[in-house]
Amino acid sequence: MTSPLPAGRRCWVEVSLGQIVANFRAVQAVVGDPVEVMPVVKADAYGHGAVPVSQALEAAGARWLAVSHAGEGAALRQAGIRARILVMADLLPWERDTVLAHELTPVVHALEQLPTLEAMAAAAGRKLAFHLKVDSGMGRLGVAPDAATIVAAIRQAPHLEMEGVMTHLASSADYTRDQTERQLAVFERFLDGLAGAGIRPRWVHVASSNPIAFGRRAAWRNMVRPGHALYGYVSPPRGPAPARVLEVRPALTWKTVILAVKDVAAGAEIGYGAMYRAPRPMRIAVLAAGYADGYPHRLSNRGKVIAGGRLAPVIGAVSMDLTTIDISQTPHLRPGDPVTLLGRAGEVVVDAQQIARWAGTISYSVLCGISARVPRLYL
Ligand SMILES: *Cc1c(COP(=O)(O)O)cnc(C)c1O
Repeated sequence: MTSPLPAGRRCWVEVSLGQIVANFRAVQAVVGDPVEVMPVVKADAYGHGAVPVSQALEAAGARWLAVSHAGEGAALRQAGIRARILVMADLLPWERDTVLAHELTPVVHALEQLPTLEAMAAAAGRKLAFHLKVDSGMGRLGVAPDAATIVAAIRQAPHLEMEGVMTHLASSADYTRDQTERQLAVFERFLDGLAGAGIRPRWVHVASSNPIAFGRRAAWRNMVRPGHALYGYVSPPRGPAPARVLEVRPALTWKTVILAVKDVAAGAEIGYGAMYRAPRPMRIAVLAAGYADGYPHRLSNRGKVIAGGRLAPVIGAVSMDLTTIDISQTPHLRPGDPVTLLGRAGEVVVDAQQIARWAGTISYSVLCGISARVPRLYL
């Protein structure tokens, strides 16, 4: 390759592992010592890079990590991660061997899975720990909260150890409705049912980032599962939310460079479909990033980037590899100059939540959408 720009300097992401560790410590400080903090590093750590993030968190004392599927867990093992790894989103038949081979801890969400896991553990001559996911009202994965049936099923599985029980909340930042209270009540009754049968799992966990950040202590139990908060975000609440008890800061900055600068006359049409027509003579810049990098197409004519320390509007359609902006306010910018797609310059901030508002999506989707071709650099 003969690119005049050094590798990684076309469109790239800078991740502050120190900030992620600081956010982890902030969560630990809020929930307190008896509560284990299990960082969620699924989906490549929400686009931040699962291996470097997990290594940093393990070094900072994380004893558990949570991933979505077995392949993600295996990749962490191959990178040398020793922490316990919880595989949260189902175990497909062809993933079961991976779980045993890499010492992963599966989440069981259907009792029909138990006989197969029991047979596997028995054949391997060992005990397999699992966490049970209960559907307390989200209507997604999880067994019905029927303690008696569950107790009967696990008594049939002597090689399995129900080390944890968990549930997930559907509306944890929504204080206009009572779904969270209803889910917590269902889960509480279920735990009482287990306790009535003499079963007290070592780990009980409910809370993702929002119930931590808004101090919903009833959801903390003795383990919490923050994802978004570790990467510096807490969802804006709906309704009369209590004050936030957690302060975290974004760890990811997304940058690109200017490929070309040009002056266009009033009436000039810009980009695919001529979605933008210059209302006056303008100076524009073409950026080396587009929707193939994960910059949402929905930001066409809507988004803003930080160029020369000021907000500069996206004009015209975001294309696959290119995006055009108006730099009439910062006419000194030149090809090769960096531009911030997501990040801050002094007081000027464009974070994932702001991009999400412009694009009509959610911050999680913006972060996870930064594509694999964008190199991640670690600070
Ligand atoms: C993704 C996920 C989390 C983390 O959620 P955040 O809102 O990112 O903190 C916790 N629990 C489960 C089951 C999840 O799937």
